[in-house]
Amino acid sequence: MSEHQTPTKPATPDPEVIYTDKRRVSCDGGKGEGGGALGHPVVWYSLEDGEAECGYCDRKFIYKSDSSH
Ligand SMILES: [Zn+2]
Repeated sequence: MSEHQTPTKPATPDPEVIYTDKRRVSCDGGKGEGGGALGHPVVWYSLEDGEAECGYCDRKFIYKSDSSH
């Protein structure tokens, strides 16, 4: 008889990944308007390297061109 245990996942949620077709993105840590307790000062990131990571909330921005073949 074998026990099958599902590994417990860490409590920390995975960083959010946001795909955008813009070369510049802003992040304030909140969702939608208003910001909130989870927000942070608005910061702008350039995606000239293809991606950027928010130093405040670890949110990751990935540039994705919408050119469809
Ligand atoms: Zn952020």
